Amino acid sequence: MSMQFEQDSVAVLGRLDALRAADAPTHGGRVLSYVYDSGIAEIDALAAAAVRAVQPVNALDPTTFSSVAVMEREIVGFARAVFHGDDSVVGTVTSGGTESCLLAVKTAREIWRADAAARGVDHRATVPRIIAPSSVHAAFHKAADYLGLRLELVPVDAASGLPAVADFAALLADADDVALVVLSAPSYPHGVIDPIAEVSALAAAAGVSCHVDACFGGFVLPWWPGLDAAGWDLQLPGVTSLSADLHKYGYTPKGASVLLQRGRDRQRKQYFATTGWPGYPVVNSTLLGSKSAAALAAAWAITQTLGQSGFAELTASCARATETLLGVIRGIEGLRVVGEPTGPAIAVTTDESVPAERRVDPHHWADQARTHGWQLQLQPGFDQAGTTRPGGARLPATAHLTVTPVTESRLPELSAALIAAAAEVRGVPRVDVAPLLGSLGAALGGALPATLDAATAFALLQGIGLAQAGASDAGAPDATATGALPERLAPFLALVEALPPAVAEPLLTELIARLVEP
Ligand SMILES: *Cc1c(COP(=O)(O)O)cnc(C)c1O
Repeated sequence: MSMQFEQDSVAVLGRLDALRAADAPTHGGRVLSYVYDSGIAEIDALAAAAVRAVQPVNALDPTTFSSVAVMEREIVGFARAVFHGDDSVVGTVTSGGTESCLLAVKTAREIWRADAAARGVDHRATVPRIIAPSSVHAAFHKAADYLGLRLELVPVDAASGLPAVADFAALLADADDVALVVLSAPSYPHGVIDPIAEVSALAAAAGVSCHVDACFGGFVLPWWPGLDAAGWDLQLPGVTSLSADLHKYGYTPKGASVLLQRGRDRQRKQYFATTGWPGYPVVNSTLLGSKSAAALAAAWAITQTLGQSGFAELTASCARATETLLGVIRGIEGLRVVGEPTGPAIAVTTDESVPAERRVDPHHWADQARTHGWQLQLQPGFDQAGTTRPGGARLPATAHLTVTPVTESRLPELSAALIAAAAEVRGVPRVDVAPLLGSLGAALGGALPATLDAATAFALLQGIGLAQAGASDAGAPDATATGALPERLAPFLALVEALPPAVAEPLLTELIARLVEP
């Protein structure tokens, strides 16, 4: 069939090129979060070829598209070997870390409900709990929210980033309503590994499911120099599930993670199956129905090609680069690395032990590094008052660096930029949010409201210069619009930190939601 197109496809793709040129660079190591660059062009080419090969496939049905079943089975087999699972460990490839975490929670909830029923307890009368360190990934806040559980946070130590085993012991002493304990290997905010051996043993003794969130570190820690996997992976009998993202240190395009579960009966509770409609019988292992096989195929091609030896080599590069960067950062007066990171994530805060005029604020430092062409991630300070143990210390604001294999080749430039940026902001105090809060208050005619509707939130964003007038109400937005955020993020983060969540969350939602309004 020949047909009349409304636009020339070459011109449309030309526009896509222009749009992509405005994105942050995905390669070359300049963005130290979000993207995981192996630094090996052949791996990217391999992924692209695999994506193209399965482009029209619907991974909804592995009986119709058998390639999907074979690739998934082989990835699960690879992961099971890497994380030392025995024959009872089975698994699924999901669309990403969040989906793996959601499904681990869903599974644990089903197990808890079945156990409650067996004890003669009506599960509908109780909201089950998830217990996790305050450093647990936000995906578990989301899972609790979506799936109707309550997330109870255990404080972490401000210096080490680690929770106390005793806090878990106390919470698990009366565990009838605890559905799941979650621990990280390592935690995203601080890059430290939770006390998984001790806490998983406590969970097992209490008959509670225990998930290891290795979404970040899963595909580096098995080869990390000097790290004993017996301390965190499926060798620990109390660990009932483990998630590891292929689209992080598996170097796969976004859209792939693996969730392993101990025991077939446990894992079957992850599934949704129904014959209760007049259409095809539905069996879904994951959240989506029809789904792409693109990231699955890319992950399969990469894991097959690299093998354990390839991963070991890439990890060795990450480890060398991390070691060097830790040395460089520890040598910068006014900054301090949080805890003892294990793996390729570093959290950096102010060294309070030096006089104020020698201190470096991590957010000013990150903003300054950006002017040198390097993007660190700003993490707000965090009040642990809402955790289970009153008096949990406030966690300081930090800058986060994710180290990838490409980082090693950029170390001289990156180190020089980090040192120069620190020198340029040394002694500059943290952003004072009082004026910003004042202008917010004034815009609202006094006190901050308990909740914000979309129009009020947008007006507030405009009032503090975070949204352009006309972004939504006066004609089409700029066709090559770059995001809505200012060059310097420190004031923005300070505001996020200072506002109550009930105000900050709708403000942030508004900021992002407006970006996609036609
Ligand atoms: C990235 C990450 C997640 C969530 O993964 P997404 O792939 O972003 O959905 C969960 N836990 C940890 C520790 C992570 O690093």
